[in-house]
Amino acid sequence: MIADNLDNVRQNIRVAAEQCGRKPDEIRLVAVSKTYPTSAIKEAIGSAQFLFGENYIQEATQKYTELKDSAEFHFIGHLQTNKAKIAAEIFKMIETVDSMKLGLHLNRHLIQYDKTMDILIQVNIGNDKNKAGITPADAEDLIREISQLSNLRVRGLMTMPPFFEESEKVRPYFRKLRILAETLRKKNLFFDNSHVEISMGMSGDYQIAIEEGATLVRVGTAIFGSRS
Ligand SMILES: *Cc1c(COP(=O)(O)O)cnc(C)c1O
Repeated sequence: MIADNLDNVRQNIRVAAEQCGRKPDEIRLVAVSKTYPTSAIKEAIGSAQFLFGENYIQEATQKYTELKDSAEFHFIGHLQTNKAKIAAEIFKMIETVDSMKLGLHLNRHLIQYDKTMDILIQVNIGNDKNKAGITPADAEDLIREISQLSNLRVRGLMTMPPFFEESEKVRPYFRKLRILAETLRKKNLFFDNSHVEISMGMSGDYQIAIEEGATLVRVGTAIFGSRS
Protein backbone atom coordinates (compact mmCIF):
# COMPACT_ATOMS: atom_id res chain seq x y z
CA MET A 1 0.00 0.00 0.00
CA ILE A 2 2.69 2.51 1.01
CA ALA A 3 4.80 1.09 -1.81
CA ASP A 4 2.00 1.68 -4.32
CA ASN A 5 1.37 5.18 -3.02
CA LEU A 6 5.04 6.02 -3.31
CA ASP A 7 5.13 4.73 -6.89
CA ASN A 8 2.16 6.91 -7.65
CA VAL A 9 3.62 10.06 -6.09
CA ARG A 10 6.96 9.50 -7.83
CA GLN A 11 5.20 9.05 -11.15
CA ASN A 12 3.23 12.27 -10.60
CA ILE A 13 6.43 14.13 -9.73
CA ARG A 14 8.07 12.86 -12.90
CA VAL A 15 5.14 13.86 -15.10
CA ALA A 16 4.77 17.31 -13.49
CA ALA A 17 8.50 17.97 -13.91
CA GLU A 18 8.66 16.80 -17.50
CA GLN A 19 5.57 18.76 -18.49
CA CYS A 20 7.24 21.99 -17.47
CA GLY A 21 10.65 21.13 -18.81
CA ARG A 22 12.34 20.36 -15.51
CA LYS A 23 14.45 17.35 -14.65
CA PRO A 24 12.60 15.02 -12.24
CA ASP A 25 15.77 14.52 -10.20
CA GLU A 26 15.85 18.24 -9.34
CA ILE A 27 12.92 17.51 -7.06
CA ARG A 28 13.30 15.65 -3.78
CA LEU A 29 10.40 13.99 -2.06
CA VAL A 30 10.12 14.53 1.70
CA ALA A 31 7.77 11.80 2.97
CA VAL A 32 5.94 13.42 5.87
CA SER A 33 5.67 10.67 8.48
CA LYS A 34 4.30 12.65 11.44
CA THR A 35 1.85 10.64 13.58
CA TYR A 36 2.74 7.46 11.66
CA PRO A 37 4.64 4.68 13.43
CA THR A 38 8.19 3.60 12.73
CA SER A 39 6.80 0.52 10.97
CA ALA A 40 5.28 2.78 8.27
CA ILE A 41 8.63 4.52 7.78
CA LYS A 42 10.33 1.14 7.48
CA GLU A 43 7.88 0.18 4.77
CA ALA A 44 8.75 3.33 2.85
CA ILE A 45 12.46 2.64 3.32
CA GLY A 46 11.76 -0.77 1.78
CA SER A 47 10.61 1.16 -1.29
CA ALA A 48 13.80 3.22 -1.37
CA GLN A 49 12.40 6.34 0.31
CA PHE A 50 15.08 7.61 2.70
CA LEU A 51 14.04 11.20 3.46
CA PHE A 52 11.26 11.93 5.96
CA GLY A 53 9.62 15.01 7.43
CA GLU A 54 8.64 15.24 11.10
CA ASN A 55 6.77 17.96 13.02
CA TYR A 56 7.11 16.93 16.67
CA ILE A 57 10.41 16.65 18.51
CA GLN A 58 9.51 13.90 20.94
CA GLU A 59 8.06 11.69 18.22
CA ALA A 60 10.98 12.40 15.91
CA THR A 61 13.50 11.54 18.61
CA GLN A 62 12.07 8.03 18.97
CA LYS A 63 12.06 7.48 15.23
CA TYR A 64 15.57 8.87 14.87
CA THR A 65 16.90 6.58 17.59
CA GLU A 66 15.51 3.57 15.79
CA LEU A 67 16.21 4.55 12.18
CA LYS A 68 19.21 6.88 12.12
CA ASP A 69 21.34 4.48 10.14
CA SER A 70 18.80 4.05 7.36
CA ALA A 71 16.93 7.37 7.03
CA GLU A 72 17.33 11.16 7.18
CA PHE A 73 14.87 13.53 8.79
CA HIS A 74 13.89 17.11 8.03
CA PHE A 75 12.15 19.10 10.72
CA ILE A 76 9.07 20.82 9.28
CA GLY A 77 7.14 21.81 12.42
CA HIS A 78 7.32 24.81 14.69
CA LEU A 79 10.57 24.66 16.68
CA GLN A 80 10.64 26.07 20.19
CA THR A 81 14.03 27.32 21.38
CA ASN A 82 13.99 24.91 24.34
CA LYS A 83 13.97 22.03 21.80
CA ALA A 84 16.80 23.47 19.71
CA LYS A 85 19.44 21.27 21.35
CA ILE A 86 17.80 17.98 20.44
CA ALA A 87 16.81 19.31 17.00
CA ALA A 88 20.44 20.23 16.32
CA GLU A 89 21.38 16.67 17.09
CA ILE A 90 18.86 14.63 15.15
CA PHE A 91 17.88 16.47 11.97
CA LYS A 92 19.61 16.64 8.62
CA MET A 93 17.81 19.91 7.86
CA ILE A 94 15.52 22.28 9.72
CA GLU A 95 13.10 23.78 7.22
CA THR A 96 11.33 26.16 9.57
CA VAL A 97 13.82 28.70 10.90
CA ASP A 98 12.04 32.06 11.11
CA SER A 99 13.89 34.10 13.73
CA MET A 100 17.41 35.11 14.69
CA LYS A 101 16.65 33.96 18.21
CA LEU A 102 16.09 30.40 16.99
CA GLY A 103 19.15 30.64 14.76
CA LEU A 104 21.31 31.66 17.73
CA HIS A 105 20.06 28.76 19.85
CA LEU A 106 20.65 26.24 17.08
CA ASN A 107 24.10 27.63 16.33
CA ARG A 108 25.19 27.44 19.95
CA HIS A 109 24.28 23.75 20.16
CA LEU A 110 25.78 22.96 16.77
CA ILE A 111 29.08 24.44 17.94
CA GLN A 112 28.98 22.11 20.95
CA TYR A 113 28.31 19.15 18.67
CA ASP A 114 31.02 20.37 16.24
CA LYS A 115 28.47 20.10 13.44
CA THR A 116 27.08 22.30 10.68
CA MET A 117 23.44 22.21 9.67
CA ASP A 118 21.48 23.03 6.54
CA ILE A 119 18.44 25.17 7.20
CA LEU A 120 15.63 26.80 5.25
CA ILE A 121 14.02 30.10 6.15
CA GLN A 122 10.27 29.70 6.61
CA VAL A 123 8.45 32.52 4.85
CA ASN A 124 4.85 33.45 5.62
CA ILE A 125 4.16 34.07 1.97
CA GLY A 126 0.48 34.91 2.46
CA ASN A 127 1.16 37.32 5.36
CA ASP A 128 -1.29 35.09 7.21
CA LYS A 129 -1.78 36.02 10.90
CA ASN A 130 -2.22 32.38 11.92
CA LYS A 131 0.90 31.07 10.21
CA ALA A 132 4.50 30.90 11.30
CA GLY A 133 7.31 32.33 9.20
CA ILE A 134 9.05 35.61 8.52
CA THR A 135 7.23 38.09 6.29
CA PRO A 136 8.53 38.28 2.72
CA ALA A 137 9.62 41.86 3.36
CA ASP A 138 11.81 40.83 6.31
CA ALA A 139 13.31 37.68 4.77
CA GLU A 140 16.39 39.40 3.35
CA ASP A 141 17.48 40.95 6.64
CA LEU A 142 16.94 37.67 8.50
CA ILE A 143 19.01 35.71 5.99
CA ARG A 144 21.81 38.27 6.20
CA GLU A 145 21.83 37.98 10.00
CA ILE A 146 21.60 34.20 10.16
CA SER A 147 24.31 33.81 7.54
CA GLN A 148 26.73 35.35 10.05
CA LEU A 149 26.28 32.32 12.30
CA SER A 150 29.22 29.96 11.93
CA ASN A 151 27.48 26.58 11.91
CA LEU A 152 24.29 27.24 9.93
CA ARG A 153 23.97 27.09 6.14
CA VAL A 154 20.97 28.84 4.67
CA ARG A 155 20.05 26.64 1.72
CA GLY A 156 16.77 28.25 0.66
CA LEU A 157 13.17 29.01 1.55
CA MET A 158 10.15 27.05 2.76
CA THR A 159 6.50 28.03 2.94
CA MET A 160 3.06 26.91 4.05
CA PRO A 161 0.65 28.93 1.90
CA PRO A 162 -2.94 29.69 2.93
CA PHE A 163 -5.27 26.71 2.52
CA PHE A 164 -7.79 26.57 -0.33
CA GLU A 165 -10.25 23.81 -1.19
CA GLU A 166 -9.39 24.43 -4.79
CA SER A 167 -5.68 23.70 -5.11
CA GLU A 168 -5.15 25.85 -8.20
CA LYS A 169 -5.73 28.94 -6.01
CA VAL A 170 -2.47 28.30 -4.21
CA ARG A 171 -0.39 28.78 -7.37
CA PRO A 172 0.17 32.55 -6.97
CA TYR A 173 1.64 31.94 -3.50
CA PHE A 174 4.04 29.30 -4.77
CA ARG A 175 5.04 31.63 -7.57
CA LYS A 176 5.63 34.43 -5.10
CA LEU A 177 7.99 32.26 -3.03
CA ARG A 178 9.92 31.23 -6.13
CA ILE A 179 10.30 34.86 -7.22
CA LEU A 180 11.44 35.86 -3.74
CA ALA A 181 14.02 33.04 -3.75
CA GLU A 182 15.24 34.19 -7.16
CA THR A 183 15.56 37.81 -5.99
CA LEU A 184 17.58 36.74 -2.96
CA ARG A 185 19.69 34.35 -5.04
CA LYS A 186 20.68 37.20 -7.35
CA LYS A 187 21.98 39.00 -4.27
CA ASN A 188 24.06 35.92 -3.42
CA LEU A 189 22.38 35.57 -0.04
CA PHE A 190 22.30 31.78 0.15
CA PHE A 191 25.06 29.37 1.10
CA ASP A 192 25.09 27.93 -2.43
CA ASN A 193 23.54 30.27 -4.97
CA SER A 194 23.91 27.74 -7.77
CA HIS A 195 21.49 25.45 -5.96
CA VAL A 196 18.77 27.14 -3.93
CA GLU A 197 16.21 24.92 -2.23
CA ILE A 198 12.51 25.83 -2.42
CA SER A 199 10.32 23.68 -0.16
CA MET A 200 6.63 23.93 -1.01
CA GLY A 201 3.74 21.68 -1.96
CA MET A 202 1.89 18.99 0.02
CA SER A 203 -0.39 16.08 -0.93
CA GLY A 204 -3.06 18.29 -2.49
CA ASP A 205 -0.84 20.57 -4.54
CA TYR A 206 2.69 19.21 -5.04
CA GLN A 207 2.32 19.05 -8.82
CA ILE A 208 1.46 22.76 -8.89
CA ALA A 209 4.41 23.48 -6.58
CA ILE A 210 6.71 21.64 -8.99
CA GLU A 211 5.42 23.68 -11.92
CA GLU A 212 6.24 26.78 -9.87
CA GLY A 213 9.78 25.70 -9.01
CA ALA A 214 9.74 23.52 -5.87
CA THR A 215 12.91 21.50 -5.23
CA LEU A 216 11.50 19.82 -2.11
CA VAL A 217 7.89 18.66 -1.86
CA ARG A 218 6.49 17.57 1.51
CA VAL A 219 3.94 14.82 1.00
CA GLY A 220 2.27 12.94 3.85
CA THR A 221 -1.32 11.80 3.29
CA ALA A 222 -0.79 10.72 -0.31
CA ILE A 223 1.90 8.28 0.88
CA PHE A 224 0.85 7.13 4.34
CA GLY A 225 -2.91 7.70 4.22
CA SER A 226 -5.20 10.00 6.16
CA ARG A 227 -3.97 10.91 9.65
CA SER A 228 -7.32 11.29 11.40
C1 LIG B 1 1.70 17.68 7.63
C2 LIG B 1 2.54 18.58 6.80
C3 LIG B 1 2.78 18.30 5.44
C4 LIG B 1 2.13 17.13 4.69
O1 LIG B 1 0.78 17.37 4.50
P1 LIG B 1 -0.13 16.30 3.67
O2 LIG B 1 -1.32 17.11 3.29
O3 LIG B 1 -0.42 15.17 4.58
O4 LIG B 1 0.67 15.88 2.50
C5 LIG B 1 3.63 19.15 4.74
N1 LIG B 1 4.21 20.21 5.33
C6 LIG B 1 4.01 20.51 6.62
C7 LIG B 1 4.70 21.68 7.21
C8 LIG B 1 3.16 19.72 7.39
O5 LIG B 1 2.94 20.04 8.68
